[in-house]
Amino acid sequence: MAHGELSAEALVVLHQVKKHYPVTGGVFRRQVGVVKAVDGVSLTIHKGETLGLVGESGCGKSTLGRVMLQLERPTSGSVLFSGIDLAALGRAELRPLRRRMQIIFQDPYASLNPRQTVGRIIGEGLVIHKVGTPAERQERVRHLMEVVGLRPEHIHRYPHEFSGGQRQRIGIARALALQPELIICDEPVSALDVSIQAQVINLLMDLQEQFGLTYLFVSHDLSVVRHISDRVAVMYLGRIVESADQKTLYQAPLHPYTQALLEAAPFPDPDRKKERKSLTGDLPSPLHPPEGCHFHPRCPKVMDICRRLVPSLEPVAEGHLVRCFLHHQLAEKESEANPCPDNDPIGTNTSC
Ligand code: SF4
Repeated sequence: MAHGELSAEALVVLHQVKKHYPVTGGVFRRQVGVVKAVDGVSLTIHKGETLGLVGESGCGKSTLGRVMLQLERPTSGSVLFSGIDLAALGRAELRPLRRRMQIIFQDPYASLNPRQTVGRIIGEGLVIHKVGTPAERQERVRHLMEVVGLRPEHIHRYPHEFSGGQRQRIGIARALALQPELIICDEPVSALDVSIQAQVINLLMDLQEQFGLTYLFVSHDLSVVRHISDRVAVMYLGRIVESADQKTLYQAPLHPYTQALLEAAPFPDPDRKKERKSLTGDLPSPLHPPEGCHFHPRCPKVMDICRRLVPSLEPVAEGHLVRCFLHHQLAEKESEANPCPDNDPIGTNTSC
């Protein structure tokens, strides 16, 4: 349903999700620090929509996708899928729900077992979940191959006999096998040639329409995200810094980080007169993130308050949230008065 009208029904609701990794060192392997890969993320994905999740490599976006599927358990927070809190379920309880959520990985070379035939790879989920007889499963795999644009007669071939784009189609067919509702697309076209990327993106959009799928589309590539997303969330060092519908985010970004990402992005726009600027400075280490607003060392609009306090993610218009003091009316006054507000939707004030 890219760029279409959104269903109001929420399929996924994350509330204050954190994923922290302890870092150990020394002879006794004591904990010497913690990496806050995901640091208090709250967001909603509606049925049938594509939420784009963008940010530089290392910002925590892939970890968030894995936490959503419970491939990694959150340190805290809730992950509601169809109203069920996945974070509170044990392995056995999660199992029947897993078939409703699938993932497409970035690297189609690494994510397919080279010793298995395509038929076995695509049908693996059907075997695990005991769906149908062997003959029915084979029929379904052939059908899925057709759906994703592969030739069913190649069912007995091995991954190395396919091109990069075809291998990603195998990964997509595997994700579709159990008729999921949610698919996490984790940088699904980053490893592909530009000419093949568009074909795979168009396939994903067609499949979404055909099967009513909901996508979380994780990518560092803003032009790809723009093409497929209904809404976009921008992530920086474990936190969402801005989210809005696709058009608003690309035409009127408010957070200085989003603005910098868009200025650095190579959009093929002949009307774009401005010279491309690159984002200055490297992404700081998540082991030692800057105090206050994590973006302040790289921000061209930094103010004194930004070095001392953590801005919360606040609505600036309907459906448009921004984590920046520039857009928080009376922010300093309120934050000074109450550094740990109860209604902070993200709650990432480091002093709290
Ligand atoms: Fe820049 Fe301050 Fe806004 Fe952070 S809060 S993005 S440092 S202006």
